[in-house]
Amino acid sequence: MSTTIEPIISLKNVRKVYKMGDERIVALDNVSLDFEQGKFYCLLGTSGSGKSTLLNLIAGLEKPTKGEIVFKSAHIEKMNEKQLADYRQKYIGFVFQSYNLLSSLSALENVTIPLIFKKISKRKRVARAQAMLKAVGLSNREKHKPSQLSGGQQQRVSIARAFISKPSIVFCDEPTGNLDTKTTFEMMDLITSIARDNNQTLIIVTHDLEIAHYANTIIYIRDGNIEKIEDVQSAGASEISSKLGIVNQ
Ligand code: ADP
Ligand code: MG
Repeated sequence: MSTTIEPIISLKNVRKVYKMGDERIVALDNVSLDFEQGKFYCLLGTSGSGKSTLLNLIAGLEKPTKGEIVFKSAHIEKMNEKQLADYRQKYIGFVFQSYNLLSSLSALENVTIPLIFKKISKRKRVARAQAMLKAVGLSNREKHKPSQLSGGQQQRVSIARAFISKPSIVFCDEPTGNLDTKTTFEMMDLITSIARDNNQTLIIVTHDLEIAHYANTIIYIRDGNIEKIEDVQSAGASEISSKLGIVNQ
């Protein structure tokens, strides 16, 4: 029995060329891909293969040179800046390798940022941010500034910020690149469990094969082309951690 599931995001013959003086760099060649609601994808490829470019295009941070990027039925490549900003605010969350927290703000204030542009009262924003910080295990760090937190704690704050507005898709660009192995698995367990609870699509960029095991689908990218798409029987986050002798706290 087969059912056709409408993709949440669809790329059709997407090409991205950067011009640097006289040189043209083909960052993405001719990429066609579908992403489904509630699935976890891992984009695996070496440095310079086009991973961040692909994320930036889907997130509407850059325009493709050619091709179509369709979110539900909306064409991202045709949107103006205001429409793109609305799209990102409503539907997209980001987790970055370098956390990208605002250093002058507390953990709590950082987490409230995505709600500021929504019509939500300050009292409700704070209550939701407190609940999110609790969910990532940081209730006792609300007033801390990023510099007063460890790398793993800063990434927890950024995960809380990425998920607070319940986006449909969360992009994670090398989310554990700066973290040790134990913290890496803690972060991956956290990200995947929140996404699973909310039926969110995760697109995780990495060059780390161990992280790829968290995905339902691994997309191998090489020199701007999709080399292979592999459906994996995900063993489940905690199973992998325990296999590797890592205990969740
Ligand atoms: P990855 O994230 O896989 O390391 P990127 O998507 O960042 O790779 O880059 C893909 C290719 O495009 C690389 O050769 C990179 O140098 C080039 N590139 C990326 N962004 C730009 C840019 N803004 N201007 C020019 N070249 C770029
Ligand atoms: Mg990159």
